[in-house]
Amino acid sequence: MKEDILHNLTVINERIKKACEQSGRNIDDVRLLLATKTVSAERIKIALENGQELIAENKVQELKEKYEDLKDIPHENHFIGHLQTNKIKDILKYDVTCVQSLDRLELAEKLHQKLLAEHRTMEVLIQVNTSNEESKFGIDPGEAIELTRKISNYSTLKIKGLMTIGLFSAETDKVRACFKILKNLQQEIITENIPNVEMKELSMGMSGDLETAIEEGATIVRVGTAVFGTRIYPDSYYWNEGKTNKKT
Ligand SMILES: *Cc1c(COP(=O)(O)O)cnc(C)c1O
Repeated sequence: MKEDILHNLTVINERIKKACEQSGRNIDDVRLLLATKTVSAERIKIALENGQELIAENKVQELKEKYEDLKDIPHENHFIGHLQTNKIKDILKYDVTCVQSLDRLELAEKLHQKLLAEHRTMEVLIQVNTSNEESKFGIDPGEAIELTRKISNYSTLKIKGLMTIGLFSAETDKVRACFKILKNLQQEIITENIPNVEMKELSMGMSGDLETAIEEGATIVRVGTAVFGTRIYPDSYYWNEGKTNKKT
């Protein structure tokens, strides 16, 4: 088990390095985030004890379950799943430093109120639905700037960039088009010069498409399967809960 994880990490880091070289980017500008949904604390620990420092869950329940086992190992926790407003308190309790899946004003407002009450701030990324699939969360690209502008009014929320789950497709061009949408949005938002908004992070790319994402400017790639192996649940279990599942 340990050997597998360590080997997979070596392979992923090689892939990241190669992609950076090929696109003339500095390897220090791309962070590896481990998507740990369904992965046991024991296995996550192996990664954290061997050079990894950034992990993320999709569900508050899993964050909670693994918290005790992981809290004494230095690392950073992001949240990348659909966040219900009634779970915000848990996000604060279990030391999440960045919510990458902020996709609606109501969530931003509730998060802000909780943070204000606790005299805290939180880093956030705006999640954009670049694949135009109804089954995925995220704000429509056409509404992303407006949402960013509105969220920027909440002083406790530190907007650091954008996140997307691209299209799942073997056709690289279509996947790349999603990443380009995110990159273009980032550039547009930068030119808008909105106070309290930083646009340095682009969280995009996963096990199957991280090279394309890095070529298109990703600063965070989120990898699960390629490090920890295939999951027993289909991703739809995490991605479209409560949403109509339109085939695309
Ligand atoms: C599961 C997940 C990932 C990682 O996907 P893999 O294909 O397993 O690498 C990345 N981002 C989000 C939001 C996820 O839910």
